[in-house]
Amino acid sequence: MKEDYYELLGVSRQATQDELKKAYRKMAVKFHPDKNPGNKEAEEKFKKVSEAYEVLKDDQKRAAYDRYGHAAFSGGAGGGASAGGPFHDPFDIFSEVFGGGGGGGSIFEEFFGGGGGGGRSSGRSGAQRGSDLRYDLEIQLEDAAKGTEKEISFRKPVQCTRCKGKGAEPGTGVVTCPTCAGHGQVTASKGFFSVRQTCSTCHGSGKKVEKACSTCGGEGRVNETTKIKVKVPAGVDTGSKLRSANNGEAGAGGGPSGDLYIVIHVADHEIFERQEENLFCQIPIKFTLASLGGTIEVPTLTGKASLKIPAGTQSGTTFRLKGKGIPSLRGGYFGDQMIRVEIEVPTSLSSDQRQKLEEFALACGDADEPVGKTFFDKAKKFFD
Ligand SMILES: [Zn+2]
Ligand SMILES: [Zn+2]
Repeated sequence: MKEDYYELLGVSRQATQDELKKAYRKMAVKFHPDKNPGNKEAEEKFKKVSEAYEVLKDDQKRAAYDRYGHAAFSGGAGGGASAGGPFHDPFDIFSEVFGGGGGGGSIFEEFFGGGGGGGRSSGRSGAQRGSDLRYDLEIQLEDAAKGTEKEISFRKPVQCTRCKGKGAEPGTGVVTCPTCAGHGQVTASKGFFSVRQTCSTCHGSGKKVEKACSTCGGEGRVNETTKIKVKVPAGVDTGSKLRSANNGEAGAGGGPSGDLYIVIHVADHEIFERQEENLFCQIPIKFTLASLGGTIEVPTLTGKASLKIPAGTQSGTTFRLKGKGIPSLRGGYFGDQMIRVEIEVPTSLSSDQRQKLEEFALACGDADEPVGKTFFDKAKKFFD
């Protein structure tokens, strides 16, 4: 049984990096072979705490260890590493366990959320697809109904034109990476523990430009403000995502560009509220109009329309204007506009108006109050 890394270092599983470092230092000083010449037990212990620390100080390896224990590095990195036998790369083990293939550490991106958005490396050539980008675009409700075209501008890495994304100064060639001798990986040896890592000079490609491009410094990409026109189709709503292919970040090493995703936000409208394809609004009408009936003009997203108010319309009645809503994004269908009328009661009557209303009230008596009648019929028993 392999000992638990945390127990070896005498720290809790929640230990901070600082605590880990302190614990390791204490152990290392105590069991260091120089301090314990000829003491096999101390040497063994020193190897073990070093191995534990090598894993736990690396957030990714620590996460792997926390989830899978020693199985994450099965083969025992400590055992075979210094013997010069077949070297077990913990990252490659991961690929096997999870069927990721390719190896070289990229598996972590997939399983620990590093990469995302289809931004996978296209192998060891050094060319990588650029990241996808997100742009939040606010539009007006009218634009959402009719569709629109917007020009947006933003900064992003674009392919360097001087070196065409290759990173090499024009006229100079590409040579084998001197750091890794073309392998794309280096074996870093620290104490008794060694790991194979992607070469930081060539990022795994095994190649290096002879002379870095003077414009991009060998990056192959430069940050630039980019302007693009976005076609916003009719029917979009807040949260709609539009994909603009190849307008994301340029790829590294001349790799393909990522995509741009435009996320739509429809601004609140003064008059209309939207629910799916339907529009809702409230319109005040005079109580005389509601009583006598008539026609009013109502606003729509495309202009105005007339709406017939039947005599005797009650407050809160909702009318429907067919097809005056928002088109469905897939086409072939329009929502409706719903108009809820609110009857306005005058607040400052002239004495003349007041007199006429009083006469009107007298003339009415109990005669014509359909809403009231229904209510008072129901409420009768409460008054008895
Ligand atoms: Zn360049
Ligand atoms: Zn290299």
